[in-house]
Amino acid sequence: MWRRKRILVTGGAGFLGSHLCERLLQEGHDVLCVDNFFTGTKDNVVHLLDNPHFELMRHDVTFPLYLEVDEIYNLACPASPIHYQHDPVQTTKTSVHGAINMLGLAKRVGAKIFQASTSEVYGDPEVHPQTEDYRGSVNPIGPRACYDEGKRCAETLFFDYHRQHGLEIKVARIFNTYGPRMHPQDGRVVSNFIIQALYDEDITIYGDGRQTRSFCFYSDLIEGFVRFMATEKSVSGPINLGNPHEITIRELAERVIDMTGAKSKLIFKDLPADDPLQRKPDITKAQTILNWNPTVALETGLASTIDYFRDLVKNRS
Ligand code: NAD
Ligand code: UDP
Ligand code: UDP
Repeated sequence: MWRRKRILVTGGAGFLGSHLCERLLQEGHDVLCVDNFFTGTKDNVVHLLDNPHFELMRHDVTFPLYLEVDEIYNLACPASPIHYQHDPVQTTKTSVHGAINMLGLAKRVGAKIFQASTSEVYGDPEVHPQTEDYRGSVNPIGPRACYDEGKRCAETLFFDYHRQHGLEIKVARIFNTYGPRMHPQDGRVVSNFIIQALYDEDITIYGDGRQTRSFCFYSDLIEGFVRFMATEKSVSGPINLGNPHEITIRELAERVIDMTGAKSKLIFKDLPADDPLQRKPDITKAQTILNWNPTVALETGLASTIDYFRDLVKNRS
């Protein structure tokens, strides 16, 4: 039987969070979006503000939050290296204290809780593609550790609240995801390359461009979130969510130049410390447990993302 639920989305004014809020509203639920607007913006959810089933609240998840909800999607956390390294202590606090507060809330009200974890828990992986039972290779004292170790500790907390307090948890490990509403200045590779191409500027490849990533379009990912949340109580994860189509960063740059018709040249810069050399999800678990597969091809997703940034650039000039 369908029932309207009260759903909390932390980080709901960000790239993924805003798409998730939209999807949950389309399904007829009441959505409470909580965000401190560090990397997210009201613009991402402004079109939802007139909806009587949507509420927006400015709040930092490192502080306690007392509400009555049925489900929680915990997405609050800066996701791009530039932003999470800007104030690394705050990044760890957001992951760890944020998880404790949201788990405490879930425990008090008996809510189901989803955690947006990350492929970064695998660090610079020695196993390829990455399966969920691979324990990772993270440098605990490097510049990416605030994010990677923060997310690892959050996973620990989720599984301990599950074992110790019987909470219903859903832990997803998200691989690189892109699409409209990505932050234009967050330095992630897809947004950087598209914006550089739209201005005919040089495309900045870090390292030799042979490192790989596998890019998932946001709509496929959100479908995976919703399917995971709907699973039986016994399904806790972790489950990898991502698109296994792997390409080199150089190929991505060439693809973006082709699709935008840019006159940009490729230039090579230093590879940042601890930058993983390859990354590709093994999604067997998502396929079998969630009956989920990504459906949007890179060409299609890039075309839509290019259109989004083209409009953004036009409106700014
Ligand atoms: P994003 O930066 O657009 O969204 C994060 C949101 O969290 C922003 O709206 C930000 O303002 C908010 N936020 C940050 N700190 C907060 C705090 N202390 N209190 C309240 N709100 C806070 O990034 P995104 O790509 O939408 O990522 C969403 C989640 O998914 C993050 O947890 C991220 O780690 C995870 N994830 C994303 C990707 C990806 O490729 N996009 C990959 C792996 C994991
Ligand atoms: N918490 C919250 N909202 C709630 C319930 C708890 O933010 O509705 C926070 C609370 O501040 C606490 C944390 O969640 O620090 C963990 O709660 P828990 O009950 O697990 O632990 P305790 O209160 O015993 O520290
Ligand atoms: N990258 C790049 N040029 C850029 C931005 C990123 O070559 O302008 C590289 C980066 O070094 C990494 C890959 O692209 O190898 C993906 O970077 P992103 O920050 O998007 O994601 P993550 O490293 O977290 O997977």
